[in-house]
Amino acid sequence: MQVKNTTRIGLYKDLLASSNYFKLVCGAGNEDKTEIEYLTYIYTLAGCSGFDVSANPEIVLSAKKGINEALRKAKELEIELPFEPFITISIGLPGDHHVRKAFISDNCVACNLCIPACPTNAIPNTLKIKPELCIGCGDCEAACPPAVQAIAYKHDTKELNKILPSCLEAGAESIELHAGVADNESTMKEWENVSNYVPNGLISMCLDRKHLSNDDLIFRIKSAMSIAGERLIIQADGIPMSGGNDNYNTTLQAVSIADIINKELKQKIAAYKDLPLLISGGTNSFTGSLARQCGVAFNGISIGRHARKAIIKYKKSPSEITNENLLGAVANAKILIEKNLYCC
Ligand code: SF4
Ligand code: SF4
Repeated sequence: MQVKNTTRIGLYKDLLASSNYFKLVCGAGNEDKTEIEYLTYIYTLAGCSGFDVSANPEIVLSAKKGINEALRKAKELEIELPFEPFITISIGLPGDHHVRKAFISDNCVACNLCIPACPTNAIPNTLKIKPELCIGCGDCEAACPPAVQAIAYKHDTKELNKILPSCLEAGAESIELHAGVADNESTMKEWENVSNYVPNGLISMCLDRKHLSNDDLIFRIKSAMSIAGERLIIQADGIPMSGGNDNYNTTLQAVSIADIINKELKQKIAAYKDLPLLISGGTNSFTGSLARQCGVAFNGISIGRHARKAIIKYKKSPSEITNENLLGAVANAKILIEKNLYCC
């Protein structure tokens, strides 16, 4: 796309206004530095608009490293990259799945069924889950026999007053709050906090319908807007972290929650007409197409698991990957971006 605005926030807004924002979700709980560097390297070269990473300054630096390596490589390969992608950091309220970490309790009978079920290889043969790899998806819980149910979770508590300024200093430009919880009061308190950390930047609230009825969802968005005003982005999370399969059915709920926000808010109340809406939670290569077929407007698409899976077979650090594999991975990433944003 043609870059018109010179300020970063102006560019961010332009991308959203033109429905051209593609975000790779590296995972709020993903603290594997090598993987973050690889993902940001490949998806920057593919033309990705932004990345969502764990609120950890070292992870932000890994993302920055991947992006910078990609910008350097783009010159060498004569790939035109019109802008540097944005880095958003993800935080979450206790209870939200994006910021929980699984652990195995004493009930475990060592059947090992959870090991192959984990999409991030966080469960070794020792059955001690590696927290830095756990993204809280719950696939291990689903694999654990119902009579045993040995998977439990703890909230990944972070001291926001310490980590948020360091993350912003390391290169993050916006913050996303995962607010998939019922309690509106505590959510709004945290939201106000988040808002104060980036008084001049865009802030995103990620919402799903697990704990919120349609009316509650709309009320939550209105409350968020009363604090953030025009800095607000809503990420509509169909079924959080459910995008493993690539078909229409998997992405149905992601498009559906966006449809509700459009019908109940954006099309009804003039003040919300331009509210940026990102679709997520079950997104894959069919999301943009399904939304367009259903007449569901969106400003961008955020993809996590499916986007990571699309390039994972080539995974190597930027200095180790061969040009052939690099181009293969970039081509896969590019197809996913273009299919979502532009194809029918
Ligand atoms: S399956 Fe998901 S929740 Fe379980 S250990 Fe792996 S990443 Fe964590
Ligand atoms: S599936 Fe459940 S019982 Fe089996 S090894 Fe994993 S945690 Fe233990």
